[in-house]
Amino acid sequence: MSISAASTSVIADPEMAQLALPPLSRAAVFLDVDGTLLDLKPDPREVVSHAALREMLQQLRSACDGALALISGRAISDLDRIFSPLKLHAAGAHGGQLRLPEREWALNPHLMDHARAPLRSYEAQHPGLLLEDKGVSLAVHYRHRPELEAEIERLMAKLCPRGEITLQRGKHVVELRPAICDKGTAIAAFMQEPVFQNREPVFFGDDLTDEAGFAKVNELGGVSVRVGASLPSVAKLCIADVSTLFECLSLWVERMK
Ligand SMILES: [Mg+2]
Repeated sequence: MSISAASTSVIADPEMAQLALPPLSRAAVFLDVDGTLLDLKPDPREVVSHAALREMLQQLRSACDGALALISGRAISDLDRIFSPLKLHAAGAHGGQLRLPEREWALNPHLMDHARAPLRSYEAQHPGLLLEDKGVSLAVHYRHRPELEAEIERLMAKLCPRGEITLQRGKHVVELRPAICDKGTAIAAFMQEPVFQNREPVFFGDDLTDEAGFAKVNELGGVSVRVGASLPSVAKLCIADVSTLFECLSLWVERMK
């Protein structure tokens, strides 16, 4: 997939932004978490949701008749921790895990077995790195050691055998993830579910891993929304930042009342 420079301008007014969205009564809502619903933190384990966000998500879910899902690179168990006590429909590990309305699905975590030991050893030798083991994917966070980016990418590229695993780059993170799924395949799986069918998909994301989701939503005739304008994107709309998106989503809910 080629990513061209964003042709859309950045919307900083939440009222303007929500007017570009379809009514929630016919929308299927897909939300990335880190950098989209919540600001990034130096240590991803420190991220937690706030009560106002949980309340807003519940209202959003109700207004779209349950057609709402988190689409994240995190493991679903970690999403449950962040949004506790809420348990939302979710795709974790960039589509490697799915919690659909009626069933759960996950790729075989043994796909990553060969890579765990080398990455743990590399993490131990380089203080400041954080290896996040999500079962079906492995992420190395290097926010505190940015000078190691190229070396980490070389190491991880060597751990992608036979085309089954691919390298996923993000904001100060490189990840090994299964090649057969991404955020686009996750959104497509949700759109097959009765709760989501015949609705217009709207996906909000912020990073390179979200581009596959934006492309899928564009293909399905929906609305793709990028939070932040630091990188080129195929998203149709761009919203300034996390707090503007929160206000936009709140106004979107208000429009249904
Ligand atoms: Mg993100």
